[in-house]
Amino acid sequence: MAVEIVQTGAPVLRERAREVPREMFGTEELRNLVAIMVDTMRHAPGVGLAAPQIGIPLRLFVIEDRAEYHASATPQQLAERERVPVEVHTFINPKVTPVGEEKVTFVEGCLSVAGFGALVPRHREVEVSARDVDGNPFTWRVRGWPARILQHEMDHLEGALYIDRMYSRSFSTYAQLQARTEGKSAAEVLEMFGVER
Ligand code: ZN
Repeated sequence: MAVEIVQTGAPVLRERAREVPREMFGTEELRNLVAIMVDTMRHAPGVGLAAPQIGIPLRLFVIEDRAEYHASATPQQLAERERVPVEVHTFINPKVTPVGEEKVTFVEGCLSVAGFGALVPRHREVEVSARDVDGNPFTWRVRGWPARILQHEMDHLEGALYIDRMYSRSFSTYAQLQARTEGKSAAEVLEMFGVER
């Protein structure tokens, strides 16, 4: 069951979300919440969704980047973004730590800032530690587009949005971005918006 996605301006998107309590792990309640989030993410469609985006201030997000979402990107764009298919994952009470100093800048959007996107710098590689729905801890080290998704979703749990980190002069409607960036390399897009590498 997909539910409505909260849009920017709503206070829940600007609060620090609470830890998922220990007693909630392994419960039907938590499984149902995750199922609703996955359905809502797929319905949008999007590559990630954090609980505050459906009005629930808990430290929990889901991600999934299906190969079919990559159809509109060129092989060069996919390679530059290090974008590869990622199966559905759930991260509860996560911690995201940058690996190394390198940052990369690409266009990013958010289901809670519907219809817009902008250039956003992110760490190229991160390590995430989290728990699954049963409370089992796991760690994942990843670079490229999945690392960007993780940083974006982690921000939601801190009450931050990409618009807090973006190059504001690149902020555009999705229609503008599509028309202006289609087939262009990352370097060309940065130059178009006057962003230094
Ligand atoms: Zn978002």
